[in-house]
Amino acid sequence: MSYLGSTAMTLEKPAIVRLKPGREASVVRRHPWIFSGAIGKVQGSPASGDLVRVFSADDRLLGVGGFSPNSQIRVRLFSFCDVEINPDYFSRQIERAIKRRHTILNHTQRSAFRLVYGESDDLPGLIVDKYSDFLVCQFLFAGIEPWKSTLVDILAEQSGCCGIFERSDASSRLKEGLPKTSGVVWGEQPPETLLINEHEMYFGVDVAGGQKTGFYLDQVENRQFVQQCSKDKTVLNCFSYTGAFSVAALKGGASHAISVDASAAALQLAIDNVARNDIDQSRHTAVEGNAFNVLRSYQQAGQQFDMVILDPPKFAENKKQVPKAARAYKDLSLQASKLIAPGGLLITFSCSGAIDMNLFQKITADALQDAKRHGEIVRYLHQGADHPIALGFPESQYLKGLVCRVN
Ligand code: SAH
Repeated sequence: MSYLGSTAMTLEKPAIVRLKPGREASVVRRHPWIFSGAIGKVQGSPASGDLVRVFSADDRLLGVGGFSPNSQIRVRLFSFCDVEINPDYFSRQIERAIKRRHTILNHTQRSAFRLVYGESDDLPGLIVDKYSDFLVCQFLFAGIEPWKSTLVDILAEQSGCCGIFERSDASSRLKEGLPKTSGVVWGEQPPETLLINEHEMYFGVDVAGGQKTGFYLDQVENRQFVQQCSKDKTVLNCFSYTGAFSVAALKGGASHAISVDASAAALQLAIDNVARNDIDQSRHTAVEGNAFNVLRSYQQAGQQFDMVILDPPKFAENKKQVPKAARAYKDLSLQASKLIAPGGLLITFSCSGAIDMNLFQKITADALQDAKRHGEIVRYLHQGADHPIALGFPESQYLKGLVCRVN
């Protein structure tokens, strides 16, 4: 690949994107996104995926990034200085991302973790999750797309994996003007159900057909918390996906766990995951349904639980959707808290980046108030350490959770 990337062989130097006066402040603070509205002028005619150099209106070089003409996020920066973006550069970045994981994770206790977390690893739009001997990656930005085969080769070499599977089928690809695609991009095809281990638990992951890259690695540390406080508890795990929280609770001594999810395929894996961990099947029930309705039906039946977990999908994709999402989060916590036995735990999550912890706490407080319950937060939960939050890029913080004792 040339200095300019595969789509820009004819240009001698990367095009220049010059910002409007005063619009460089966030970039100077290492925010890697340049929105179309901040751009004063583009010198040259960069195509989708081409490298561009970004300058302030007063001619200071701010960084080098990739160009995405279809997206409101017109440029994402690879670097905040004038560095040559080439295979060596990506090789150094991947090496650094892998090293970072080695300093924060105990690899003897888990075979799966996020190896590359996009902008937080200065690799915008690139997600790489490691599941035992396989990698699963997503290319979610037009500027990273031309480097796919380079990055796949680097990942194969540096990770020593047996195969790399691409899951670039997220709808955010369409905003980048990229088609959805998925399949093996290097080495062996992963087995239909790939086995991983996590703190003495075993899970099957459907890499090709599961959600996102197949498993929710951002919840690993939170599953440990659930395991620690589940002894002798009855647990209702809503939005369970493949039952990872249910397995953690049952391993921690929960007397019974119910996994509720809308996906029959995810629930089948949940049932298999319970068996895989030598847990008596009678301690687990899988319920296929809409969690909003299931919560109401348990109320009608007068059922109570010692712990209710709520981990719904992202309700707010952007700021505009926050009011509607807030109503949905409130409804869930309201319905759930009515089911909690006095002194029991409500563990409620939001993975909507547009809703911050303060707002989520207010929503939860309102829900308990309306349910005529009171409580206290005993723990704040977050995404795991392999999903680091770049200080200059608050968008990298998305998962938040509250553990509330409900009285
Ligand atoms: N807690 C899980 C991840 C949950 S992801 C884990 O740790 O692995 C969100 C899940 O919500 C998905 O499995 C999806 O199928 C499910 N879902 C989405 N809408 C739903 C609804 N209305 N009712 C029940 N499940 C729903």
